[in-house]
Amino acid sequence: LEVADPQSLTDGFHLLIDALKINGVETIYNVPGIPITDLGRYAQAQGLRVLSFRHEQHAGYAAAAAGFLTKKPGICMTVSAPGFLNGLTALAHATTNCWPMILISGSSEREIVDLQRGDYEEMDQLAIARPHAKAAYRILHAEDIGLGVARAIRAALTGRPGGVYLDVPGALLGQVMDAAEGQKSMIKVVDPNPASVPSSEALDRALEVLKSAEKPLIILGKGAAYAQADEQVKELVETLGFPYLPMSMAKGLLPDTHPQCASAARSLVLKESDCVFLIGARLNWLLSHGQGKAWGEKGAKKFVQIDIEPTEMDSNQAISAPLIGDIESTTTALLEKIGGNWQKPSEDWTGAVSSKVQANIERMAPRLKNNNSPMDYPGSLGVLKDLIAENPDVVLVNEGANALDQARSIIDIHKPRKRLDVGTWGIMGIGMGSAIAAAVETGNQVLAVEGDSAFGFCGMEIETVCRYNLPVCIVIMNNNGIYRGDGENWSGGEDPSTTVFVKGSKYELMMQAFGGVGVTANNPDELRQAVKQAFASRKPTLINAIIAEDAGKESGNIGNLNPSSVVAQQ
Ligand code: ADP
Ligand code: MG
Repeated sequence: LEVADPQSLTDGFHLLIDALKINGVETIYNVPGIPITDLGRYAQAQGLRVLSFRHEQHAGYAAAAAGFLTKKPGICMTVSAPGFLNGLTALAHATTNCWPMILISGSSEREIVDLQRGDYEEMDQLAIARPHAKAAYRILHAEDIGLGVARAIRAALTGRPGGVYLDVPGALLGQVMDAAEGQKSMIKVVDPNPASVPSSEALDRALEVLKSAEKPLIILGKGAAYAQADEQVKELVETLGFPYLPMSMAKGLLPDTHPQCASAARSLVLKESDCVFLIGARLNWLLSHGQGKAWGEKGAKKFVQIDIEPTEMDSNQAISAPLIGDIESTTTALLEKIGGNWQKPSEDWTGAVSSKVQANIERMAPRLKNNNSPMDYPGSLGVLKDLIAENPDVVLVNEGANALDQARSIIDIHKPRKRLDVGTWGIMGIGMGSAIAAAVETGNQVLAVEGDSAFGFCGMEIETVCRYNLPVCIVIMNNNGIYRGDGENWSGGEDPSTTVFVKGSKYELMMQAFGGVGVTANNPDELRQAVKQAFASRKPTLINAIIAEDAGKESGNIGNLNPSSVVAQQ
């Protein structure tokens, strides 16, 4: 028997790392445990950055946010069964938001799992992942690792991006093969974001519809931010001369202070416009499906839409001119067709929108300057608005109910992809994962504005922030409860604490416990000082911002989504 030369051998661990590296992966967000602990160690030894979280959901949210920020799949690595399920929430979140992500999960022995003999963390993970992911694959043989990783990367990126599940049974990692053969099995994915340009007819049709509009409006969605076609999008918006509304994560694609930005006249433009040009935005619940009172008279609007996903067209409203293509190619092609030849909409429309914007901004301004203690939302967020204006490269992470709604409308964003929030599902708990990914992927200072309730879903990850010494400043908008801290259970139920937390909780002490800076801010001046200091020092910082208990309303701006009991009201 010949003994194989270990120098000429490779194994599943190293092939998986090679396959990721050859495809440009630099960072893995993970929680170690059986069977992937050594995989993380070897990945580090091979030059990958491996960050360990306290809970898989947050490692997953970090990977999802990294996908949005970089236009490359964010990689999350989890252990079998429970760890996998924790990560799956984030994978589904990435898919729902159309962001590229790959969840690589260790899994237990196939022979035992498939006969349901009761393995350690037994679960048929592939089957469970499939309905929540854009694609799901399992690799059984070391020689297929290159193929499996390539398929996962292409599936995550090409067309509408999404989350991909990659099942890695523990036994695969230990499989050995000839190193030279292993290298030959690697696949570097070529052109995973292929240009996709609508036909000339489709472009002409769209320009005809846009030309005939009297009161046109552009809606920019996070797909446009993701596309990284910042110059082209800006040039198209400015060439057309339409007022535009940025969806929350498209804020900053053009600065929110841009003269065509209609955010402060949202009700007016949604209602009165006669033509809406959607660029990387879906007509889903966030836009009330393009119907209802907010959208004005039924059937009075025409829609033009750019989207990479053909079936998005007509999913909610008839699309008069679908432009199925990627945003970079499509905006470039439209600009070429237009040449220098475009008549901007009349002053009647653009002037009316600008006056409304001006009036609303002026009406709000004094409220943003108050120095109340305890603070209200406008007073505290007014401070953060100014600090972001002075530091436009700071990435703002934002979650909560009122903390989300108010910060979204008050804090202007000045550069593309500088705002990360709860996304399409409006979920709580994305804050710390997103903040960590933003710091790691961009190297920039991060400001996380968190409702005290939202923070509770991910708060333990402040240890991760401190461990990696990341420039993350967390502001907890602390009003002692979910929605508000003076909530009571008016139903007659005995436990008053269903929506109220321990009053006066000292979140700043949690941060001190891990070696970070933890302070309290009782008024806007203190808040300003504390955030300034955090930005200057780039130290992990948590500011417990004391907000009046009665500030905020139930479910923020989406209270209408609560079903109400007819019986109880009789
Ligand atoms: P928002 O919530 O900001 O309105 P959505 O998530 O609803 O944004 O919409 C984003 C849309 O952008 C999705 O329909 C997605 O298919 C599309 N999209 C993503 N990337 C691209 C791209 N590169 N080119 C064109 N469309 C894209
Ligand atoms: Mg609260």
